[in-house]
Amino acid sequence: MYTKDKLVDEFEYFLKGFKTSDGVEKYRTRISQAIYEERTSILVNYEDLLSYNADLAAYLIEHPDKALEAFKEAAYEAMRVENPIYADKVKPVLTVRIKTLPDKVPLRSVTAKQLDKLVSVSGMVVRTSEVKPQIIKAAFRCPLGHITFVEQKGRLLQKPKKCVECGETKQFELDKRQSIFVDYQIMRLQELPEELPPGQLPQSLEIIVTGDMTNTARPGDRVIVTGIVRAEPEAVGSKTKLTIFRTSLEVSYIEVLGKGPDKIELSPEDIEEIKKIAMQPDAYEKLIQSIAPSIYGYETEKEAILLLTAGAPQQTLPDGTTIRGDINILLIGDPGTAKSELLKYVARVAPRGLYTSGRGTTAAGLTAAVVREKSGIMMLEAGAVVLADQGIAAIDEFDKMRPEDRSVLHEVMEQQTVSVAKGGIVAMLNARTSIIAAANPVFGKYDIYKNIYENVNLPIPLLNRFDLIYIMRDVPDRMRDEKLAEHILETHRKRGYAKEPPIPFETLRKYFVYCKRINPKLTSEAEEKIKQFYVEMRMMSQEGAITITPRQLESLIRLATARARVLLRDKVTEEDALRAISLMKRMLETVGVDVRSKRIDIGVLQGRPISEKGMMETALEIIDKLQGAEGEPVEEKKLIEELIKTGKFTREDAYKIINILLRNGQIYEVRRGFYSRTRYI
Ligand SMILES: [Zn+2]
Repeated sequence: MYTKDKLVDEFEYFLKGFKTSDGVEKYRTRISQAIYEERTSILVNYEDLLSYNADLAAYLIEHPDKALEAFKEAAYEAMRVENPIYADKVKPVLTVRIKTLPDKVPLRSVTAKQLDKLVSVSGMVVRTSEVKPQIIKAAFRCPLGHITFVEQKGRLLQKPKKCVECGETKQFELDKRQSIFVDYQIMRLQELPEELPPGQLPQSLEIIVTGDMTNTARPGDRVIVTGIVRAEPEAVGSKTKLTIFRTSLEVSYIEVLGKGPDKIELSPEDIEEIKKIAMQPDAYEKLIQSIAPSIYGYETEKEAILLLTAGAPQQTLPDGTTIRGDINILLIGDPGTAKSELLKYVARVAPRGLYTSGRGTTAAGLTAAVVREKSGIMMLEAGAVVLADQGIAAIDEFDKMRPEDRSVLHEVMEQQTVSVAKGGIVAMLNARTSIIAAANPVFGKYDIYKNIYENVNLPIPLLNRFDLIYIMRDVPDRMRDEKLAEHILETHRKRGYAKEPPIPFETLRKYFVYCKRINPKLTSEAEEKIKQFYVEMRMMSQEGAITITPRQLESLIRLATARARVLLRDKVTEEDALRAISLMKRMLETVGVDVRSKRIDIGVLQGRPISEKGMMETALEIIDKLQGAEGEPVEEKKLIEELIKTGKFTREDAYKIINILLRNGQIYEVRRGFYSRTRYI
């Protein structure tokens, strides 16, 4: 057993005596640096202590409260040698922080068993609170003006038992000016998807962060947290003592992990096998066949998924602007088609994949939210696209997303960040996320006589942010249905895949991790093909219809680059460009066609095909006329009558155009059934 004095001595020996293998006095240097940079904590690598004094290191894990208190005193003594004035100034808040123990504990097994012990846990930060001042040493004034200091532990303010000078026991007043405060923040840590036992929901743990550790991690960050396990009564407003406690972690140190693509380690044998696959002449077809092998058909969608999972590197142009490399795909599918299964598959196979519903599984939905905790503290919570930063978010029921997400998601998809400024919390979170989303048609089934924006209830600016959009229709087809039935029966008979995929699932996962390391460059041949296609499509445009925009041009570059990546090439070839063009054409020939003019018109993705432009302009003119100089809101009934009177509209057309104008944001509903033009100042 160590006595207090013995502990302080041992830690002091360590701080002053520890040398790295090349003879550097690491902690003397750190202490001088802390003084120079006016910091209040000294970071100690646990492994250094372990190699210097294994008994002491073991004691630190078992009795962190006593040990860290002594460590702090040792640090103060060591600091005093260097700079006594600074040492005395920071003494009340001086902290020794311990970085990452060799053995990590799984988050879900942090329980009361480790109460008051030091542990390291890895996880993802999903919530952070605002930073509040917390009193650690309270100054109490008695009626005679004497000050008594009380060190504070826990959440309830402890008063002195009696005044140190006159013995007063009841009447005390808190003197905030003489009290000592530190910054205090609550975060919530969630299990990492790849550490989750199969079929389990992720568990989370509250962590208490103080002093210079506050704001060192943001929602979406992957971290290793080292801290002391505590059990606190469940937060309630009243003073009732509860017998139910919840575990939390009092943080010593948060190590924010580098943003590598994944934790999967690749052995030299793995890499050899991956290269062998890529060298086969039919590698690309084999890779496509290996995507979601339990799902029959949908080769186009599977090819698109292959490219999305590989992704393309972000490009920086000579003028400094960046083009996102992440590919976004939207699947609009009839019920009964395999879109949810495809999405779940992507989340499993992709490094950092995450499957979620458009409704979101938490208050944060798809982007982020600021919520008030029971305790009254404001918390910033990250949504799916932030949690899947540098990975893939597979979002099912995309059309069911929250109104807040609807209005900001197109910005997220373009700028790849989420900005939050609410309730005193201002933050910018990274969302460099590739999105594969699935939506249901408004009328139950996709209506091929209607344009895409009439078929799916999504904000129109969002449609434009998808590189590829495909419709998965459930149409009876004798040949196909027979094959599908055969496929499903075979799957059941074999209790496995009807047809073994050419590349097994685990190999494919590793394949994606490896191919993401490659940054292919466009060759002039590939550029030429893409340019040629672009120009040809532009030539087809007539009477104001748009067949292709620079947005699709960027998509083609992304898709072609991703294909080069998939085949482990550092150059994007002509063939890559042609396959990308083929995927794009398949999209343009379905969702890109205006059902009225029967021609390709990208206007349908912007909610204004040329065939409807005239109607929209007419409607806006009529609204202007009805609103008059006073800008009176127009009643829907009246508006529809006026539109029909022009002879250009059926009743159905009139409703439709009003709906489009609303969704474009060109008009808004002032109150139920009354509309006004949107004016931009
Ligand atoms: Zn007194």
